[in-house]
Amino acid sequence: MKITKLTTYRLAPRWMFLKIETDAGITGWGEPVIEGKARSVEAAVHEFEPYLIGQDPSRINDLWQVMYRGGFYRGGAILMSAIAGIDQALWDIKGKALGVPVYELLGGLVRDKMKMYSWVGGDRPADVIADIKRLREGGFDTFKMNGSEEMGLIDSAAKVDAAVGRIAEIRAAFGFDIEFGIDFHGRIGAPMAKVMLRELEPYRPLFVEEPVLAEQDETYARLAAHTSIPLAAGERMYSRFEFKRVFQGGGLSIVQPDLSHAGGITECMKIAGMAEAYDVALAPHCPLGPIALAACLQVDFVSHNAVLQEQSMGIHYNKGGELLDYVLNKDDFHIEGGYILPLPKPGLGVEVDEARVIEASKTAPDWRNPLWRHADGSVAEW
Ligand SMILES: [Mg+2]
Repeated sequence: MKITKLTTYRLAPRWMFLKIETDAGITGWGEPVIEGKARSVEAAVHEFEPYLIGQDPSRINDLWQVMYRGGFYRGGAILMSAIAGIDQALWDIKGKALGVPVYELLGGLVRDKMKMYSWVGGDRPADVIADIKRLREGGFDTFKMNGSEEMGLIDSAAKVDAAVGRIAEIRAAFGFDIEFGIDFHGRIGAPMAKVMLRELEPYRPLFVEEPVLAEQDETYARLAAHTSIPLAAGERMYSRFEFKRVFQGGGLSIVQPDLSHAGGITECMKIAGMAEAYDVALAPHCPLGPIALAACLQVDFVSHNAVLQEQSMGIHYNKGGELLDYVLNKDDFHIEGGYILPLPKPGLGVEVDEARVIEASKTAPDWRNPLWRHADGSVAEW
C-alpha cells in the first residue's frame, strides 16, 4: 500500500480535517489544527507531502520520525499539530486495513468505558447553575469551567472574591453531587495563582488547570506545595520533550496533551506512559472535532492512568458547527451516565460525512480567539 494524496478541509467552527488516500482505496482521516492558525497548519501539512507520497502508510513509527527529525527544525504548535493530524490519519488507515479499532492495535482495552466531562459557562461565565442543571439531565456529573476573566499580575481582592464567589455558589447549589475542574486558562500569573488556589481550596475542585502558563512550568512544583488541589496542564505542550520537564520538575497531578497538537496518537501514547511512571493522571485536551476526540479515546482506552476525557459538545467555541455535524455514525458517540463506550468501528471509529465536509469547507470561516485587554489598555491573556 502506498500513500497517494493528502487533502485538507478547513471547517466551521474552527477545525481542519485531513484526508489521506492510498492506492489500495483505503482512506484515513485526521484533524491537524491549531485553533486560530488553521492556515499555518494546513501549509505545514502540505510541506510534509514529499516525505509521505509514495510511502507505505503502515510504517507509522518511521514516518513520524521522518516528519519530526527529517527537517532539522522541529517542535512547536504548528509543526507538531501537522504531524498529529497526519499521524491520526495513518492510524485510521492501519486500523481500517486490518479491520480493527486502533485500540486493538495498541494492546487492547484497559477499561470498559471512559469518563467524560462537559464544559459549562463560557469565557465570561454566567448562568452556570442553570447550565449545570440542564447538563445533569443529560447524565453529566463532571464539569469544567473557566476560573476567572482577565486578572492582572497583581489584582484586587474584589476580583478574587468575584471568581471564588461563583464557585461557592455552585457548591452551595449542588453540594458534592457534582465534580468540577477549574480552568485558569493561563489568565492568572503566579502571584495571583497562589492566592486563588488558597481561596478555592475549601470548595475542593477536582483540579485547577493551567494555574499558570506553560512558559512558567517551573512554577508548578512551588504552587503544588501550597495547595492540596491537584494541578493540571499540558494543552500548550507539544512533545514528550516538553512534558519531560514537568515530570522532572514535579507539581502536576494531571497532564493534558492534545491529540491534535502533541504529535498525535504515536507521541501521546509515549507521554501517557511517561506520566504513568510518575503517578500522574492523563486527561487529554479536546475542545476540537470528532476525529480528534476519537484519537483521544484510542489512547484513553489503553492507558491505565487516563481519568477524564474532555469533549466539545455544546462548548462555547462551537459557533457554526457541532461535534457530530460531520459524523455519520453519531450513535457510537453516545454518552450515557457521563461515560462513553469504545468506538466499535475499525480505525479511529469515525465515519466522516465527506460530502458535508466538502460543502462546508467552501465557506469555512477563519476563527480567531478574542483579544482581551486590561482596564489600562495592556494586553490580557485570554
Ligand atoms: Mg484549558
